[in-house]
Amino acid sequence: MASLFDIDIQQLNGVGEKRAQLFRKLGVSSVGALLRFYPRTYEDWSHPYSIQEAPYEKPCCIRAAIASRVTETRIRKGMTLYKFRVCDGLSVMNITLFNNRYAPNLFKEGKEFLFYGKVTGTFLRREMSAPLFESADHGVRIRPIYSQTEGLSSRQIEQAVRQAFSWLPASVKDDLPADLRERYQFPHLKQALSDIHFPKNQEQLEQARRRFVFEELFILQLGLLRLKSRRKSETHLRLCMDSTQEFYRLLPFAPTSAQKRAVAECMWDMSQGAVPMNRLIQGDVGSGKTAVAAALCYNVAKNQMQSAFMAPTEILAEQHYRSLTSLLSPAGIHTALLTGSTTAAARKDTLKRLQNREIDVMIGTHALLSEGVQFARLGLVITDEQHRFGVGQRAALAAKGNNPHLLVMSATPIPRTLALMIYGDLDVSILDELPPGRQPVDTFWVDSGKRQRAFRFIKKHLDSGRQAYIVCPLVEEGESNLAAAQQYFEQLQQTDFSGYSVGLLHGKMKNKEKEQVMSGFSQGEIQILVSTTVIEVGVDVPNAVIMLIENAERFGLSQLHQLRGRVGRGTYKSYCILISDAQNEETKRRLGAMCRTNNGFEIAEEDLKLRGPGDFFGSRQHGLPDLKIADMMTDMEILQQAQEEARRTLSQDPSLCHPEHRGLRAEMFRLFGRIGEGGWN
Ligand code: ADP
Ligand code: MG
Repeated sequence: MASLFDIDIQQLNGVGEKRAQLFRKLGVSSVGALLRFYPRTYEDWSHPYSIQEAPYEKPCCIRAAIASRVTETRIRKGMTLYKFRVCDGLSVMNITLFNNRYAPNLFKEGKEFLFYGKVTGTFLRREMSAPLFESADHGVRIRPIYSQTEGLSSRQIEQAVRQAFSWLPASVKDDLPADLRERYQFPHLKQALSDIHFPKNQEQLEQARRRFVFEELFILQLGLLRLKSRRKSETHLRLCMDSTQEFYRLLPFAPTSAQKRAVAECMWDMSQGAVPMNRLIQGDVGSGKTAVAAALCYNVAKNQMQSAFMAPTEILAEQHYRSLTSLLSPAGIHTALLTGSTTAAARKDTLKRLQNREIDVMIGTHALLSEGVQFARLGLVITDEQHRFGVGQRAALAAKGNNPHLLVMSATPIPRTLALMIYGDLDVSILDELPPGRQPVDTFWVDSGKRQRAFRFIKKHLDSGRQAYIVCPLVEEGESNLAAAQQYFEQLQQTDFSGYSVGLLHGKMKNKEKEQVMSGFSQGEIQILVSTTVIEVGVDVPNAVIMLIENAERFGLSQLHQLRGRVGRGTYKSYCILISDAQNEETKRRLGAMCRTNNGFEIAEEDLKLRGPGDFFGSRQHGLPDLKIADMMTDMEILQQAQEEARRTLSQDPSLCHPEHRGLRAEMFRLFGRIGEGGWN
């Protein structure tokens, strides 16, 4: 099958350049990928209902004979209706088709058909509008429905899949080892492909699905486990000296015991020498992850090695750069910043210094991954807000060194079962303690009638020297959020907050402007920062004490929690005000949870209950490759089997070089992206 992945989708009959482009849009660029493009769902034509028993408003199949002549009504130019009755021997139903001029010839009285669609109408007058249909003796069973895109319908995809299937050689090599297939009684690849696309019955479909779910999770686990068991690192990356105490004396505050514990765990990992560190630090917003990162960068520098610190946005990278520089440069440690907006000249200079080991801590965005960024001696790679990065990117940065230590930091608390899955390759340290003096953020939910009161409340705090955030209303689709933000900002500036200094921050601003606004705010020149959600992650201005969120119902729970995390970061009492007029139950639960607790783990559990893990995975908060068929909620059991089997397989063949495993290895790289390859070894 591997070779089919090398055949461009355009080689198929009927797939020209234009259609190939549409296929690519769906993530399908080769014939092999098309075969792995599993149906999104199925139309079950295999169990036709009687008209009487057919469910309402839910797609289903009905078997019935034509019971009247087809009448033709032209209702306007370009729109002709064709109506007729069908009967299943007991009941009658009306069918309407649009612009189908073959209908009168096709639907002859007495002939039996299968109709697939939604039944509407009343009990006495059932109707089906624009159903799909097949002659009853055609023997259609279960039809695949593919995710389509404009210009490429599910049926067209189905045709292409049929063709691709016919290209499969008589004996296809199956990447799933035979003993595994036997033990779990999975169908062979070719059979499974046939059954997943064109199942004859539900049992076959279920068998095939189980196989592909297993295969997907198995390969995912292989990838994750292999990340974990990277080859023994070169001993020269071992830290021989622990300067943590020295670093703590540089800090303007005493580290919390959770921070100390996390630093110690990392230092232990990095001084062991056998394997490089692979650790996740999970800590709620404001728990002080940056200081932990700084402690490690300090130690690594003292051990004559470099660190790379990657953040998901420029704002964050700059913030880290500022705080690490002010902390570390007095100790003679050199920091530098590299982002997409670094000028060419500065970039050139930075890269040169990096190669000459004149830079100890290299902070930046994805720009750090670009070619030309070469470290002299990379000892530690840190990624902040880990869920924003793919596993592949983490590995790509690591590949810039000789198997360096890895630390990922995340504020997204993840329930345990999922953590096992997502971070299966990492050890975990948890920062379960906030710095002392933090008071929980009081959260209020008010309707828009109380907005003026909320504004007065904000003014009172501004007058006593504090600062505030206001998150702009989100607008309905179609209008531009940007225009709305601009308008909202101007209004606040001119009316409610005239006499105060108000700043605006949004995603479409040039980086220079963003930087200016952010530094204006962190230096206190700007009193109120009106912002779209670009401030969501990581921004740290301890003097800001109020977070007001307009249209709070439009945000997910985790996002609200992240936003709230921007306040309550200093010793001042802080507040979060959620403005929302929404009344539906789900919103009430969400906003209620925000008012009830400040605890990120509780918020995450509640979020999971409300949205389900499927959504959690869908929203890509984890940085794993997309899953095409497995569902974390319903396939938990298969996940566990897959994990066990992956362990077993790797214990027998750690680098998957056995001929029988070569296909798995290739699939693994395909799934995680080639980019990660260098980091795996
Ligand atoms: P996060 O974990 O969300 O990344 P940060 O690292 O940005 O949190 O830290 C939040 C704020 O808390 C920063 O202003 C930081 O200086 C401060 N801080 C961190 N650790 C401590 C501590 N032990 N005592 C007091 N303040 C601290
Ligand atoms: Mg942070």
